Amino acid sequence: MPIYEFVCADCKKSFSLTLHISEYEKKKSFKCPSCESRHVRRKVTPFFAVTSKKS
Ligand SMILES: [Zn+2]
Repeated sequence: MPIYEFVCADCKKSFSLTLHISEYEKKKSFKCPSCESRHVRRKVTPFFAVTSKKS
């Protein structure tokens, strides 16, 4: 299952959730675990930068 990383716009804390992709597609809105704000933004993980090689 992919790990989604989020950052909260209110408390600036980042957190990650392990979700099935269909679960993520269904939910769309997520709550911050620290302040319960819904102003969370998805963080882009550097995963693809690691796997794609530029030589
Ligand atoms: Zn928060």
